This record gives sequence, C-alpha cells and structure tokens, in this order.
Amino acid sequence: WDQSTVAVVTGANKGIGYEIARLLAEQGMTVVVTARNEELGQAAVSKLQRLPSTSGSAVQFQQLDIANAGSVAAFAAWLQQQHGKLDILVNNAGIAYKGNTFGADEAATTIATNFLGTKAACEALLPLLTKPGGRIVNVSSTAGVLRGIPSEQLRARFESPSGVDELVQLGDKFVEDIRAGRHTQEGWPSSMYGISKALESSYTRVLAEQLKDSGIMVNCCCPGYCSTDMSSWRGTQSAAAGADTPVWLALLPQEEFKTGGFYRDRKQQSF
Ligand code: NDP
Repeated sequence: WDQSTVAVVTGANKGIGYEIARLLAEQGMTVVVTARNEELGQAAVSKLQRLPSTSGSAVQFQQLDIANAGSVAAFAAWLQQQHGKLDILVNNAGIAYKGNTFGADEAATTIATNFLGTKAACEALLPLLTKPGGRIVNVSSTAGVLRGIPSEQLRARFESPSGVDELVQLGDKFVEDIRAGRHTQEGWPSSMYGISKALESSYTRVLAEQLKDSGIMVNCCCPGYCSTDMSSWRGTQSAAAGADTPVWLALLPQEEFKTGGFYRDRKQQSF
C-alpha cells in the first residue's frame, strides 16, 4: 500500500475508530480521519502524525457527522475535490445509550446514527469508491444478531428484506411500537442498540448483494467487547485488538473476494 490508496474512517477521534485509522496509516496509505467534533478530530490526527510507525502515510482530518445530511454531503464533495476517489470506507461511528435508558426518541437517535448514518455515508461515498477493488467495512456488533429478536416474523424480515426501504420501515416500526407501548407485544427485544446493529448488519448484506458485480467488497463485523468510552471501559480487550478484524477486512486481497458477511475474530459468523 502507498499514499495513492485513500481510506476514510468515521468516528476516528477515539476508541476503535482511532485504532483502525492508526493500523491503516501504518500500511502507508492516505487515511482521512473523520470526526463530528473538529477539535477532537484534529487532536487525533496530530497524535497519529507524531507516531513513528505512520511516517510513510498521509493522515488528514475532515469533519463528518454521519447523522447530519449537510455534513455528509459536504464531506463527499470535499473527498471528490481532494482525492477524486475512495478505496476503503470504514463505517465505525456509532452510539449506545448507557444504563437502562429506553424510549422511542432514544431508539430513533440510535437508529439515526448506527443504521441511517452508516447508510448515508455509504450512499454519499459510493460514487467515489474504486470499482473493482473498493471496500466497505461496517463496524456492527454481535449485539445485533437476529436470534436476539423474539418474533420469528420480524427475524425473517431482517433475514431477507425486500430492499433497503424495508429496513428503514422496520426501524420506523420499532420506534413507533415503543412509542405506542407495544414493542414487546410486537415481538421486539428491549435493546435499541441491538436493533440498530441488526439493521446495520442486514443493510450490509443488502448493499453487498447490490454491489456484488462491481468488485467492491462489503462486509460487517463485531470488534469484540472492547475497553472504550462506549463500554464504560469495561471491555475485556483493547480498542487496538478490536480494530484487528475491521482492518483485516479492509485489507483483504482482491483474489480472496468476500462480500456480504458478518465477521468476528477474522471468522465469518451467522448474524
Ligand atoms: P466510542 O464511543 O469510544 O467511539 C465512538 C465514535 O463514534 C466516537 O468517535 C464518536 O464521536 C463517533 N460518533 C458517534 N456518533 C457520531 C456521528 N453522528 N457522526 C460521526 N461520528 C460519530 O465507541 P467504540 O470505539 O467502542 O465503538 C466503535 C464502534 O464499534 C461502534 O460502532 C460500536 O457500536 C462498535 N462496537 C463496540 C464494541 C465495544 O465493546 N466497544 C462492541 C461491539 C461493537 P464523539 O467522540 O464525538 O462522541
């Protein structure tokens, strides 16, 4: 790899995203570190640029809030103008409410970032992705595996949705069922994060299917339980260890073409 390869990492100012950006920069490529907060993003870039191991790379910062349509559009325009292409997109940005927080508005916010934000970034940047050879890696979670959804009927819809629109509708239904006080009755689990990640993983599969003839690899993964802000530092492994599988997917040789899978510890898992 060299600086002609362009990688973008979302939510790269800290945690697993920062470590993904570091590992990609250590390969010598151009890494665009993005963050919703400009100051935090710039600080992460300065830290990465000071590492001796990233000296062969070009690390840049650009603001990107995946839950903000204007920010996503501005970022895509910047990337087009600056690099004219994209080789690797790692959708790492995500949120999780802490403790027992549960409600329709919070579910909507969680889905707006983890699923709809990831979808918005993919859609805006797809025209720039190298075909063949481009890669999309979505950092999802084992918390989103479908066996966590009590209703068999809902599980079947996540398993084989008619398209992306059906996934958007499922997200809306979850929020509205919570708002109406009937989400348990309707067969949903009480996990906003789990549903947002089930949507993200299912979306990855739909997108992979749509792009399979273009030579773009689209996969998702679980980084494992990592010690970061999100887990209140309770994770059993480091953020750097969590970055391993997403980076492995991002760097897979084109001859080993894999698409539409869910991986953990570099192994494909059922999701
Ligand atoms: P952190 O909370 O440490 O980091 C999350 C990152 O996402 C931060 O940079 C945060 O920015 C950013 N972010 C949140 N919302 C947005 C947004 N709208 N636009 C752009 N960036 C945003 O979490 P982790 O590093 O632990 O998590 C990274 C990914 O891994 C997430 O997708 C998470 O769901 C997933 N994951 C994590 C696990 C774990 O054990 N930690 C387990 C399974 C999956 P800011 O600093 O501004 O908040």
